[in-house]
Amino acid sequence: MAVQTVASTGNTTVDLGPAAALSCRECGHRVPLGPVFACEECFGPLEIAYDFSAYDTEELRKRIEAGPANIWRYAPLLPVPSDVAGKPNLNPGWTAFVKADNLARELGVTGGLYVKDDSGNPTHSFKDRVVAQALEAARAFGFTTLSCSSTGNLAGAVGAAAARAGFRSCVFIPHDLEQGKVVMAAVYGGELVGIEGNYDDVNRFCSELIGDPAGEGWGFVNVNLRPYYAEGSKTLAYEICEQLGWRLPDQLVVPIASGSQLTKIDKGLQELIKLGLVEDRPYKIFGAQAEGCSPVSVAYKAGHDVVRPQKPNTIAKSLAIGNPADGPYVLDIARRTGGAVEDVTDEQIVDAIKLLARTEGIFAETAGGVTVGVTRKLIENGLLDPTKTTVVLNTGDGLKTLDAVAGTGLTATIRPNLDSFREAGLDS
Ligand SMILES: *Cc1c(COP(=O)(O)O)cnc(C)c1O
Ligand SMILES: [Zn+2]
Repeated sequence: MAVQTVASTGNTTVDLGPAAALSCRECGHRVPLGPVFACEECFGPLEIAYDFSAYDTEELRKRIEAGPANIWRYAPLLPVPSDVAGKPNLNPGWTAFVKADNLARELGVTGGLYVKDDSGNPTHSFKDRVVAQALEAARAFGFTTLSCSSTGNLAGAVGAAAARAGFRSCVFIPHDLEQGKVVMAAVYGGELVGIEGNYDDVNRFCSELIGDPAGEGWGFVNVNLRPYYAEGSKTLAYEICEQLGWRLPDQLVVPIASGSQLTKIDKGLQELIKLGLVEDRPYKIFGAQAEGCSPVSVAYKAGHDVVRPQKPNTIAKSLAIGNPADGPYVLDIARRTGGAVEDVTDEQIVDAIKLLARTEGIFAETAGGVTVGVTRKLIENGLLDPTKTTVVLNTGDGLKTLDAVAGTGLTATIRPNLDSFREAGLDS
């Protein structure tokens, strides 16, 4: 029952399963599947168009449920060949979906609060999902070097995926990232290059490299492979609904860096509705940013359709993209679904990291502090309805951003005897 489309790109024949073509998000112009990301007609971003017409809803549901406990259970909805599960890949996904009753009590949520905890992925962030897709596209297009511009997490995910799959990797990061992220990217043995500048400078440099012979044969997961990469975020939407018993949540709180994840979560939810896998009813998507890098939140509150770039200055470095490519689409989705975009200060981020850890035993990186902090703020603002089912994303592991909670430490230091223990006031 697999839908197979074999597209021809120059002299390469690719099998990317149900993916039928690339389609422009602005003008709808279609081109064959290939390592391109911008429309030749209007320079708009390209995304994957599918042919799902052969799917029977109940057959598809059974096939997904019988699939592996990773993102490949959704292979019939992704731009990957049907035998993808047998290829060398880190196989991320199917992460914990935690019913956060303690946190719900603290925040006054009565309608059911869940944390989708993507810190459990192979390199401890959501980025493994998107890289897994880009890797399959790189394989199909015959690339042998995997590359990216990264705010940190992506570098590690690319390094690890390349190591598993036998690709060379060379990734680019701002030179001043958290030590934990640098080590976590370097340990996989690929090349890791620090660029003197911020993420937006790194990204610009990579675009230049793609157009130059120096970068020939390189698959940049978030540049020339971006349409494939982006589809990986849909699996978050699929998993959330399946883990809710094939139900849409009422509200989702999603972090924004480039905005790609948020837009593809919406795409994934829309696909599930069209395929009949969930009931068609309204849901609201809320975007979360750090105040120190809040271009989308500022535009949302000002009622603007365009996003004015900012120079980032926040501890939430994984979200520190000052010129987010998908910003305008995020604004559309927040407004269309009745959601909002909100931001929190660095101090509120740290408080929220500690709140989630203290209530649910989940240690989130700063991006998780952003979503939990924004959830709290949206409830206080009256924008998020505490009587509705709400899903908050934690997209990375707190071990990556230990600096953010550096002040946390020993309760007491005592001599190894009971008197000293009692003196410290720790007895029951
Ligand atoms: C990359 C990243 C995101 C989301 O990035 P988008 O560019 O908006 O898709 C969210 N959380 C973490 C921890 C990330 O590394
Ligand atoms: Zn176009």
